[in-house]
Amino acid sequence: MKITAVDVVLCAQPAVTPAFRWRDGLPGSEPAHTGGWLVLSTDDGHTGYAYSHRGVILADIADRRLRPELLGEDPLQREWLWHRVWELDRIEEMPLYIHGLVDVALWDIAGKAAGLPVHRLLGGYRTAIPAYASTSTFATVREYLDVADQCLELGYPAIKLHAWGDVDRDIALCAALREHVGDSVPLMYDGSAGFDLLDSIKLGRVLSEARYLWYEEPMREFSATAYQRLAEKVDVPLIVAETSDGAHMNTADFIANGSATAVRTSAGLRGGITGAMRIAHLADAFRMRAEVHGGGIVHTHLCMAVPNTTYYESFVPANPVTREEAVDANGLVHAGTTPGIGYEAEWERTGVPAGLEPYTS
Ligand SMILES: [Mg+2]
Repeated sequence: MKITAVDVVLCAQPAVTPAFRWRDGLPGSEPAHTGGWLVLSTDDGHTGYAYSHRGVILADIADRRLRPELLGEDPLQREWLWHRVWELDRIEEMPLYIHGLVDVALWDIAGKAAGLPVHRLLGGYRTAIPAYASTSTFATVREYLDVADQCLELGYPAIKLHAWGDVDRDIALCAALREHVGDSVPLMYDGSAGFDLLDSIKLGRVLSEARYLWYEEPMREFSATAYQRLAEKVDVPLIVAETSDGAHMNTADFIANGSATAVRTSAGLRGGITGAMRIAHLADAFRMRAEVHGGGIVHTHLCMAVPNTTYYESFVPANPVTREEAVDANGLVHAGTTPGIGYEAEWERTGVPAGLEPYTS
């Protein structure tokens, strides 16, 4: 099999509504923008897709680097092409959210060629997984408690807070939420890199007392040493290496220095599905969880294939809360059955994106 075309189909997207807010001080989810589908076509009629909200950046990198590299290559040589993307990255320093797209499209082709959904091709571990409610930033403690009640009522078994990024307000919220839901509900906290080391320690000690399951990204992940210092000072488990560059090579340093109790993995920021699986296996060697970061169909495949992950991340952007379509009334996300990634199954509901030909195997 050979890759015969590398295209980017741009599509105008309205603002994501309701906007998701990670914390005060950060821009919320995408305003109106130009998304982009990376489309890899092959000589035996298979087509692989991957999507980015940053379509213009994708189109530029595809035109200058990806198309010349990929044309004529065998799409089933994923490891070789993963290596080649890292070589391009040495020159381009690609945004993390672009880096993994070629790999995702290659897995889509591989699944279609095999007649298997990607999670089965990856080995297959489970066919359903619990989803935790990953909150947006709401206005008051009272509103968060109301949102938490709605999430539990809708079937979500666990809740992760994105809060204000104000250490004292966040401490009060985290303690109040534990008090409100009791000990049986797993709670997590995500700082979205809002703090320095001193405030991270201050907040982390409260999360320890309140028995939070994990403490995620209180600081930018540029310094593994800063996380090492934090781990020395707090008991709450740190889950690390969500946004840092370098996939498994970077995650390894967080593990080696003792800061990781668990790690993050994703196709979106860790070098596609291939990078995400490397991280999962690396963590497994240390009996650590590699929790899949981010929702969506690609991450559903990872959730079904990675033994040492325990939840799907389901975003709760608004109050009143509605359950994400992929999550059932028992709070479970189920494995897809469409060969490849399965965008086509989504398009049956949403319509084929303008400019894309519907794929038929
Ligand atoms: Mg996070």
